[in-house]
Amino acid sequence: MLGAMVAAMATVATTTTTTTDRLTSYNPATGEPVGSVPIFSAAEVDAAVARSRVAAQAWGALSFQARNEELTGFRKALANHVDDLVDLLHRENGKPVLEGYSEVLNALSHLSHAIGRAEEALASRKVSSGVLANFRSTISYHPLGVIGVIGPWNYPLFTPMGSISYALAAGNTVVWKPSELTPLIAVKVAEIAANTFALPDVLQVVTGAGATGAALAKAAVDKIAFTGSAATGKRVMMAAAERLTPVLLELGGKDPMIVADDADVEKAAEAAVFGALTNAGQACVSIERIYVADAIHDKFVDELVKQVRELKVGGDDGDIGAMTSAQQVAIVKDHLEDAIAKGAKVRTGGPDAISGSYIQPTVLTDVDHRMKVMSDETFGPVIPVKRVASLDEAVKLANDTTYGLGSSVFGGKAIRGIAAKLRAGMTAVNSVMAFSGIPNLPFGGIGDSGFGRIHGDEGLREFTRVKSTAEQTFSIPMNMMSFRQPKDASKRLRGMIKQLYGEGVVAKATDTWRKLRAR
Ligand code: NAD
Repeated sequence: MLGAMVAAMATVATTTTTTTDRLTSYNPATGEPVGSVPIFSAAEVDAAVARSRVAAQAWGALSFQARNEELTGFRKALANHVDDLVDLLHRENGKPVLEGYSEVLNALSHLSHAIGRAEEALASRKVSSGVLANFRSTISYHPLGVIGVIGPWNYPLFTPMGSISYALAAGNTVVWKPSELTPLIAVKVAEIAANTFALPDVLQVVTGAGATGAALAKAAVDKIAFTGSAATGKRVMMAAAERLTPVLLELGGKDPMIVADDADVEKAAEAAVFGALTNAGQACVSIERIYVADAIHDKFVDELVKQVRELKVGGDDGDIGAMTSAQQVAIVKDHLEDAIAKGAKVRTGGPDAISGSYIQPTVLTDVDHRMKVMSDETFGPVIPVKRVASLDEAVKLANDTTYGLGSSVFGGKAIRGIAAKLRAGMTAVNSVMAFSGIPNLPFGGIGDSGFGRIHGDEGLREFTRVKSTAEQTFSIPMNMMSFRQPKDASKRLRGMIKQLYGEGVVAKATDTWRKLRAR
């Protein structure tokens, strides 16, 4: 079947880009160019989407088994290219090599999960028909068609693959616009896809900056999965509104961490250091502010500062890599200066510890919510710590944000109750960020952190259209879908309402109903 489809598609899948403008990707650690890619015009984006639409018909028509075989081949090819992928992640994004391997592992873990879960999560299911007991009711899930994925630079593989893997496994094709800061990794992935899939154009990449992304948001795609800042997310949503294209928005965060007085201080500090500083703090679910119970505040800060000072900044084997852009360094500097001017104390690091694209991790205390470092997304290696008098105060402050992405709580068993009170899409208990590495857990936020979910069964269904089917299986005397009713129809309905929903007769009615449905 696949062979015939490929032959049929060969005639339509030959358009090539004619772009002459190019975009250069630079190594943030050295400033040297890593490579260059074409800048796709709006017309070229539309052409890619048109090719994707043709591919979607064949890809969406495959059985789960056939598609899963294709996706498994893709997963294996990506794993076989792990060193190339990590090299690009390291050179384009600035992250240490170890973090590059961790990113590839996480991306492939999600791809593997999406492959394994798609058939079951998207299986049709029969549901109760309620009062229309003579109907068989079925919910089924169908591919949307073409998904436009617009990605950020901070996790340039893991983050877009969180949409791409689930979209492909659900039977869609994808046109991916990577960040202009990290396009080469996407081009590499698309090259691997082209060499692996039997069908052409299952996963295409259109490179360029904001204008190329804007063109994709306006194009004739069936859904846009956007990951990036809240400001750009709003622009994407406005552009998509022209065609009423649905959007999935994975935006920024200002994730809080709460440390109760019965927490293991050393472990909480260790998790805080990782959660705030991995990827140089450039993670959407970075720990961006910490609220610590008064009784252990000083001990926690001492431990935090000790562990932060043990980290190595820079080098291929460093713990903290280069910041990916000069713009991001400027934001971190601004947040630090603003906090210090408003009374924050620097325990280690500080604005003077910024050197080129490297920032020494910084711990601040005596912070409050007037400071940008406690209200705006910093996206850098900064850990502001605030003392709280009670867990109620900690929850109130943690929820005092327009964002609502991830969060973290540390403490004894009672801390689970605190986790439940946090207004966030995800919470890690006695850990940080773990929810993003567990493929069964849906990932996404609320408020300025966006809406919709990637990962998990919800992440697969996000890329489907839901179809409801009501099939009449036998006739009953009163057909509710007809004007031909017996003369006493109103009387019968009145009696039915009283019997089904009135007081005292519920058990009898339920029994009658059950008998009807069993037929
Ligand atoms: P960004 O909003 O600047 O850019 C994101 C993407 O949008 C890029 O590919 C960019 O070229 C494109 N773009 C720019 N203008 C556009 C337009 N008008 N129309 C369409 N596309 C356009 O974000 P960024 O700086 O690349 O990424 C950092 C942000 O992403 C942070 O806020 C971070 O928290 C967030 N993020 C969120 C998640 C999540 O899953 N929630 C994951 C990673 C990053």
